[in-house]
Amino acid sequence: MELNISGLSGQDSPQIEQHVKVLVLGSGPAGFSAALYAARAELEPVVLTGLELGGQASLTYTIENYPGFPEGVGGAQLGELFQKQAERFGARVEFDTAAEVDLSQRPFRVKAYNCDYLADSLIVATGASPNHLGVSGEVELTGRGVSYCATCDGWFFKDKNVIVVGGGDSALEEGIFLTRYASSVTVVHRRDTLRAGAILQKRAMENPKINFVWNTVITEMVGKDKLEAVKLKNVVSDQEMVHPVDGVFIFIGHTPNTQIFQGQLEMDDLDYIVTDGRMQTSVEGVFAAGEACDPFFRQVVTSAGMGAAAAIQATHYLEKHSSVPQQNPVTQSNDRAA
Ligand code: NAP
Repeated sequence: MELNISGLSGQDSPQIEQHVKVLVLGSGPAGFSAALYAARAELEPVVLTGLELGGQASLTYTIENYPGFPEGVGGAQLGELFQKQAERFGARVEFDTAAEVDLSQRPFRVKAYNCDYLADSLIVATGASPNHLGVSGEVELTGRGVSYCATCDGWFFKDKNVIVVGGGDSALEEGIFLTRYASSVTVVHRRDTLRAGAILQKRAMENPKINFVWNTVITEMVGKDKLEAVKLKNVVSDQEMVHPVDGVFIFIGHTPNTQIFQGQLEMDDLDYIVTDGRMQTSVEGVFAAGEACDPFFRQVVTSAGMGAAAAIQATHYLEKHSSVPQQNPVTQSNDRAA
């Protein structure tokens, strides 16, 4: 699909241009927490939701480790609460996605699909996306048996046999969730030791519907119109086999959604944005929070904390620079429909 977006390089843009004090990119726990803090500092932040309102957390069936919810809380429900709380203090949520940024001038320029923004400060909370295995048939059979989201697609596998790939917390958590529907869940892991935490390991091991295949990888997804089987290879013995299956759910980690900042913000080897201890990126006035800059913790609570910290720092930054005149005259328009 070709999107009608003019570049930032001087082409005429028919889009509305808005000048904001704080622009938050992303609507996960980091984005909405940043928006809440910026809103309470009366900075009237605008949140561009990105493609997934609520971020990855909203796709989680139950979140049991976010403080304040002793019985757990639905991921989508928590996302709605985050949004409601930020909006209550004046954050504005736009269902739009940043496509290009120019951080070389101030205010920073952000071109989204529906609007161009000039932002005095920017909080990058664009999160991360699930990794793909990269095996033959995976792309073609995605949505036809291959999935990256148990909450979204689990229901389609009622009384079916599914495979979960991965040995981390996501694989086990989602595998346990899938036992609500599937008749069997086979966890295929490339090693013989799980990476997941002890509680999830215990729950998965004790679940009669879950079994484990160790030291094994999928080398091919087989099927014409829908997934019919996978080719498995034992990485120790090199033995291969075809295993009939109805669904494969892949949970093998994530890649940060930082592509549009390439060459503009310092990143590590895995493309996570580098920040200092105060969420400041390599460009003054641009802050990052959550999984876009965090390869280690990746928890709702840590992302929310980083979002709050980024907004506090953005507030200090704007206070410090409030007397700096803006370079570009801008058009204010706040009457656009969300
Ligand atoms: P993760 O911890 O990075 O685990 C990814 C798993 O996928 C690992 O077991 C890894 O194997 C395997 N893997 C990676 N690439 C692979 C490939 N190409 N082929 C086959 N297997 C591959 O990712 P995650 O489970 O998504 O968790 C991410 C973070 O979120 C973690 O910090 C986790 O603690 C957190 N999280 C927490 C919860 C919770 O607290 N309830 C829930 C979900 C996620 P190896 O082990 O061999 O490397």
